[in-house]
Amino acid sequence: MRDDKEFEYILNKAVQSHTLDEKEILYLLETKNNKQLFEQADKTRKKYVGDEVHLRALIEFSNYCRQNCVYCGLRRDNSQLTRYRIEPNDIIELAKKTKNYGYKTIVLQSGEDPYYTVEKITKIISEIKYLDIALTLSIGEKTFKEYKAYRDAGADRYLLRIETTDEFLYNKLDPAMSLKNRMQCIEDIKQLGYEVGSGIIAGLPGQTLKSIARDIAYLKSIPVDMAGIGPFIYHPNTPAENIKGNFFELSLKVMAVLRLLMPDINIPATTAMETLNPQGRLIALQSGANVVMPNATETIYRKYYEIYPGKICLGDSPAHCRFCIENKIQSINRYISKGKGFHIRQN
Ligand code: SAH
Ligand code: SF4
Repeated sequence: MRDDKEFEYILNKAVQSHTLDEKEILYLLETKNNKQLFEQADKTRKKYVGDEVHLRALIEFSNYCRQNCVYCGLRRDNSQLTRYRIEPNDIIELAKKTKNYGYKTIVLQSGEDPYYTVEKITKIISEIKYLDIALTLSIGEKTFKEYKAYRDAGADRYLLRIETTDEFLYNKLDPAMSLKNRMQCIEDIKQLGYEVGSGIIAGLPGQTLKSIARDIAYLKSIPVDMAGIGPFIYHPNTPAENIKGNFFELSLKVMAVLRLLMPDINIPATTAMETLNPQGRLIALQSGANVVMPNATETIYRKYYEIYPGKICLGDSPAHCRFCIENKIQSINRYISKGKGFHIRQN
């Protein structure tokens, strides 16, 4: 009884003030009252960002990566993966096709691949910007100078997840990378006037709910314009610990708490969520999310962009994914936004 009262108090406080301390965030993460939490996140989503859903077309243009993140299938030491990269001119052509499917935002994502020099990336950016479309980059850690060159060329947003703010865990899971540098990159991106996208993996081996509560507080402190939460999915060709468990529900909870604390930001229903639950993206859209990132990568490359196994839509075409997501969104009485979907601050 007492616990119910405390839960009601904290949930109410989050709904009313959008502010909680780390202990209260932890309380919500530990709660079993998921239904109430998701309902309130859904209401908050509706109140602040409405029923429209922003689509971001994801083009995965290279699976080469110089990093070695322990959990990721694209890591440098995964010798079992067939590597591919799409040439800059072909990326530009693909972007044109993608625009014709009616997308207003393109996300270019890859491993950290030095083949794409600043010259190559800035050329791609300026050509895509001719299409009058918002452009997000998700190509990893770069120097301030590089981020500035991309921004000057016209990139609107940058997506770099913090993954975890637990320094011990970060050092273990992201060898030769540092939490400090990752945070600096996010600061640089913000300072350059990009819309900042970040987020975490929920369910990493060794991660605690306490550290996730700190991650949430960190994302709010930036504050990010977009936060994407992906459940950890074990990849057998990595040295990650194969912990048993499905982190779909946990990632939904993290997402719902973020919606309550940052009511007007963009929050995607992530592909990894749907990998763990066939209705994952629709459930997420009804628990706080307002963005979907359909895959616009050509079918031949999809199976090689294997960050984790079992990814959805591997055999599908970009056209199919566009059509499919529209039907799904309409089936829950939501609609696709006609705008570019920039973050509009409301509080
Ligand atoms: N190289 C870029 C972008 C590609 S990786 C970068 O790292 O920023 C995109 C995201 O995949 C990462 O940010 C990470 O959060 C997620 N990811 C990697 N391995 C994963 C796994 N096993 N399960 C779930 N998400 C994973
Ligand atoms: Fe490379 Fe990104 Fe995977 Fe790390 S998470 S190995 S940086 S693709």
